[in-house]
Amino acid sequence: MSEADWSEHRARVQAMAEALADSTGPVRLRKSTSNLFRPREDSGRTELDAASLNHVLEIDADAGYADVEGMTTYVDLVDATLPLGLAPAIVPELKSITVGGAVTGVGIESGGFRYGLVHDTVHEIDVLVADGRVLTCSPDQRPELFHGFPNSYGSLGYATRVRVGLIPVQPFVQLEHTCYRDPEAVFDAIGAECAEPTCDYLDGVYFGPGEFVLTRAHFVDALPTGTETSDYTWMRQYWQSLRTNSRDWLTIHDYLWRWDTDWFWCSKNVGAQFRPIRLLLGRKRLNSVTYQKIMRASRRRPLSLVQYLRPRTESVIQDVDIPIANAAAFLADFDAGVGIRPVWICPFIVPNDRFSLFRLRTDTPYVNFGFWDMVRSNEPDGHYNALVEELVARHGGKKSLYSRSTYDEATFWSEYDRAAYQALKRECDPSGRFPGLYEKAVQQE
Ligand SMILES: Cc1cc2nc3c(=O)[nH]c(=O)nc-3n(C[C@H](O)[C@H](O)[C@H](O)COP(=O)(O)OP(=O)(O)OC[C@H]3O[C@@H](n4cnc5c(N)ncnc54)[C@H](O)[C@@H]3O)c2cc1C
Repeated sequence: MSEADWSEHRARVQAMAEALADSTGPVRLRKSTSNLFRPREDSGRTELDAASLNHVLEIDADAGYADVEGMTTYVDLVDATLPLGLAPAIVPELKSITVGGAVTGVGIESGGFRYGLVHDTVHEIDVLVADGRVLTCSPDQRPELFHGFPNSYGSLGYATRVRVGLIPVQPFVQLEHTCYRDPEAVFDAIGAECAEPTCDYLDGVYFGPGEFVLTRAHFVDALPTGTETSDYTWMRQYWQSLRTNSRDWLTIHDYLWRWDTDWFWCSKNVGAQFRPIRLLLGRKRLNSVTYQKIMRASRRRPLSLVQYLRPRTESVIQDVDIPIANAAAFLADFDAGVGIRPVWICPFIVPNDRFSLFRLRTDTPYVNFGFWDMVRSNEPDGHYNALVEELVARHGGKKSLYSRSTYDEATFWSEYDRAAYQALKRECDPSGRFPGLYEKAVQQE
């Protein structure tokens, strides 16, 4: 990238810094997409338009990184890296997730058993803080900010540039789907892969008692003679193929986005799993951005007859991280108490324990369980989300904060390091222009 492109980047950041300086009082980000599942009330905060910070600035293939503006979506980043035979080490699988959102929001994907979480693969971040300064941080420069930024959800400042670690990839992946009946067997197999990887990507799905599918993906340079890649971007659904195919081939592009077409399996909630609706929507509209828009609109206008007639439900949309030794017990308790199925299983290692707002143990791999659905409920609203928090605590885990949380303040800060947060808040936002983390994650976005 030329010096002119870098100077345009600096001008875009400067414009955002000036908008921050020219306004007074509380602010928040304005973006065209979001994968946040907490209510976002109209809080009267000034909205800071960040949409133009969406460029891939530079890719250094030899050094293995890309410099990317904070609001760049992963789909744009991957489009820039794949022609060079590279991909971000971790590519969160919803196309609209942005690089800044994934770093501040603890992104994860199936490379986690080799590389850790998104923030473990980031080299450097520029953070725009409340007084308009842009602070560059890395493990060596302002390490407290670098290690405190993940899980801060924009409450310390906004990532305007992120240096993202890249890995070499090949044009295709060969998938091996292995069925397991016994939870201990599947978590043993996952533990073995974390200790000594035999594949390039690893994730799984729990469909119900006695039905786990673990998927090992291997890079391949060329397809074996007589094979073709599968296409799950329209009428066929990837998640259903796990139960019927033991082996499959995808392009690397389709592998990275394999979950987006049906938003894992959540497309069922907007009727998009019916063939006529899929035909009608067409390939281009079958994606997580469309489903997000439909769900947001239905939350704003919940006045249909169906809304009044349908049974009471509670939305339970959560990702939780559990040490692998407790994974089977957590899943059993979750199945008995909450009962959402399927559940996504994504293992990851923890390369270091310095990330203060999301501190995990380094002596064990973790298993991320992702469950996203409505639960029929005769309980007070919030019962099932609170139960998830209780189960996570009981099994020594940690919960992501992109969705609803019910913690009281003392419990929240016993999980997410109040002292480290307060020190960073004093440095980055002493007058409280950004919402505090507890206020944002639990009370309102
Ligand atoms: C159904 C569902 C499934 C999910 N599955 C996965 C998954 O498999 N893997 C995964 O990695 N994640 C997953 N997520 C979570 C997702 O990665 C996080 O919610 C992430 O924060 C979203 O990023 P975004 O770019 O869409 O940000 P937004 O949703 O727009 O924002 C999220 C938060 O981050 C803040 N923020 C956004 N950009 C910046 C920035 N540049 N600097 C500072 N703060 C910023 C916002 O203020 C907001 O508080 C899932 C979410 C949902 C709802």
